[in-house]
Amino acid sequence: MIGPGNAPDSTHNDTCARIIPATLSDVNSVDIVAIGAGQAGLASAYYLQREGADFVVLDRQMAPGGAWQQVWRSVRLVSPPLYTRLPGLAWDLPFHHPPSGPEVSGYFADYEKHYALPIQRPVRVRSVSGDGRLLVRTDSGDWSARTVINATGTWDHPFVPSVPGMASFLGRQLHTASYDTPEEFAGQHVVVVGGGNSAAQILAEVSTAARTTWVTRRPPDLRGGPATEKDLVAVTDQVDERVRAGLPLRSVVSYTGIGRTDAVVAAEARGVMVAHPLFDRITPTGIAWNSGETLAADAILWCTGFRPALSHLAPLHLRGPAGGIVVDDTRVAADPRIFLVGYGPSASLISSHRAARHAVTYALSTA
Ligand SMILES: Cc1cc2nc3c(=O)[nH]c(=O)nc-3n(C[C@H](O)[C@H](O)[C@H](O)COP(=O)(O)OP(=O)(O)OC[C@H]3O[C@@H](n4cnc5c(N)ncnc54)[C@H](O)[C@@H]3O)c2cc1C
Repeated sequence: MIGPGNAPDSTHNDTCARIIPATLSDVNSVDIVAIGAGQAGLASAYYLQREGADFVVLDRQMAPGGAWQQVWRSVRLVSPPLYTRLPGLAWDLPFHHPPSGPEVSGYFADYEKHYALPIQRPVRVRSVSGDGRLLVRTDSGDWSARTVINATGTWDHPFVPSVPGMASFLGRQLHTASYDTPEEFAGQHVVVVGGGNSAAQILAEVSTAARTTWVTRRPPDLRGGPATEKDLVAVTDQVDERVRAGLPLRSVVSYTGIGRTDAVVAAEARGVMVAHPLFDRITPTGIAWNSGETLAADAILWCTGFRPALSHLAPLHLRGPAGGIVVDDTRVAADPRIFLVGYGPSASLISSHRAARHAVTYALSTA
């Protein structure tokens, strides 16, 4: 349900206030709890298992695949499988065949099975707290752990800005996280909001079935994404610098610009990729600007990104004065018991594996 107040980049969660104390006999004990079984969690589990660690992985999904089981139908893994496969098990897909969400999820499922990883699901971690040993509270039993490797990604924390009047809209509002195919908007007028890669890709395909209006907070940056491996490394280094300084994360596109996929280029040629400034309010029938201009719409598609899904870590107060979490190569400065994998510079398939290896080394060396 879309509505105002979806908190940006928050580690605050009112579920923490409702915690009921557990008795010791209710609590399972383990050395390390890894949270999340997307690629970052699976890579962490691989290294934990290789080192003979005493650990469990808790994942809130019903099935393997992490975010890839939920992406919209046309999404393909753009980085080559050679670089993005998980550690260990080969992934025999030809390079000219970019894998789809179900194919990536299928590979993850094979991977879990191949290594018999100790993954429990669906188990949602509600909070991590405690002095000394950590208490990991879930909707399906509680765990005591010395250390937590957190790999919860962003897909579970979609962000929608708060705009006056949004609750009054009589049409459909949805976020990227719920979008599937353009056909569901056939013949409608759809307002696509957002200046990132997902907005551009979804706009390009929805515009083949529906009339669209693109709305962005800032003029979109269509310069074309990172061209070389060197560019990618440079972006990762910039994100790393920011995270080490404890600054809040910025969107990927603010570093790279929007990727010029074939569909985006084709949409540009059709005159679709023309952005309007963000509207000032939403009316029952559409959107309105303070200039007096209004536009009727059947649907508003919020392609406004995701934030790290970290609300369960709120009791640990990890955020520093600059607004972000200070992380040094997966180690959280504010709490040496917590490691973040798939966060900041390691939020890509390529870099999360190295981060997982480092987090496991650090976690075990502090035992
Ligand atoms: C559309 C799209 C395309 C992308 N394409 C690429 C690409 O081509 N190449 C690339 O390198 N990167 C790509 N990325 C970026 C990144 O690699 C992916 O987002 C990747 O899925 C992130 O993996 P992850 O393991 O960090 O998170 P996820 O895959 O989201 O896994 C996190 C898991 O943790 C679970 N979880 C969350 N909170 C809790 C909780 N409280 N308790 C228990 N479980 C929890 C989630 O349900 C999920 O199963 C893409 C991202 C998107 C959105």
